[in-house]
Amino acid sequence: MTLTSPAAPTRSTPRNLAGQKALVTGANSGIGRAVAIALGQAGADVVVNYVAEDEAAAQVVAEIQSHGVAAYGHKADVSREDEVRAMFAGMIAQFGTIDILVANAGLQRDAAFQQMTLEQWNTVIGINLTGQFLCAREALREFLRRGVVAAVSCAAGKILCMSSVHQEIPWAGHANYATSKGGIMMMMRSLAQEVAPHHVRVNGIAPGAIRTPINTDAWKTAEAYAGLMKLVPYRRIGEPEDIARAAVWLASDESDYVVGTTLFVDGGMTLYPGFATGG
Ligand code: NAD
Repeated sequence: MTLTSPAAPTRSTPRNLAGQKALVTGANSGIGRAVAIALGQAGADVVVNYVAEDEAAAQVVAEIQSHGVAAYGHKADVSREDEVRAMFAGMIAQFGTIDILVANAGLQRDAAFQQMTLEQWNTVIGINLTGQFLCAREALREFLRRGVVAAVSCAAGKILCMSSVHQEIPWAGHANYATSKGGIMMMMRSLAQEVAPHHVRVNGIAPGAIRTPINTDAWKTAEAYAGLMKLVPYRRIGEPEDIARAAVWLASDESDYVVGTTLFVDGGMTLYPGFATGG
């Protein structure tokens, strides 16, 4: 078993998001970066939200623009209502509307439960869960105002909520994070039920272990990687591009009848690998 994963497929991406306007939160790193680039490759104009590291955001913007679409960076903290509202107002002023929201920004502040501070709890819930609420609400307001434009998409808008396998798998030492992801799952499903009659599609993606800066400790040494593989039946770590391909599909009309679902992209991590030999 090698430490590397197979290269992403090299076939050209169909530009099935041409003419659509997308916003990806937390898009200057890891999964959000790969999703933003893939949406641009698929023909969408993209707003690259980020909260720190201007240079990393500028690089993502340049890479998206190299695919012949428009892109710009917008610095905003997704847990702040005023900053989120200003970001969406700016996007509508610049791009005219929004068709795709990928609510991806997230972080961890790990601690044993008895030592977890209120600040650690509130930071994770505020960014991971409330941040998705604030962004989804602004996107929805525009989707409902505009409605379906058949030449652009079958749907009046698409919202993708970046969740985690920890919407399902409890995670000792990470109660704030797992709670935020369980909350995302039920927010996503409730919102999907509420707005499906308006032809707005809301879905979630639950990544397993993906090679990004959020979880370096889980894969950076051969020993850590071997330990991680005990949790992954498919026996490789996920790459950000694995999630990006799922996001492009969920954002496109190819998935038009997919509503209120979580797509697990986890190499089988949620298959209870501890029971693979009979438990
Ligand atoms: P990452 O640390 O590389 O990226 C997180 C991004 O969110 C960064 O760009 C960061 O700056 C941004 N962010 C943090 N706080 C923000 C705020 N207040 N406002 C705006 N942006 C903010 O990590 P990642 O692995 O790419 O994580 C992306 C999402 O995927 C997260 O929601 C994470 O929970 C989820 N996820 C990751 C994994 C994994 O294995 N990497 C697994 C499951 C779920």
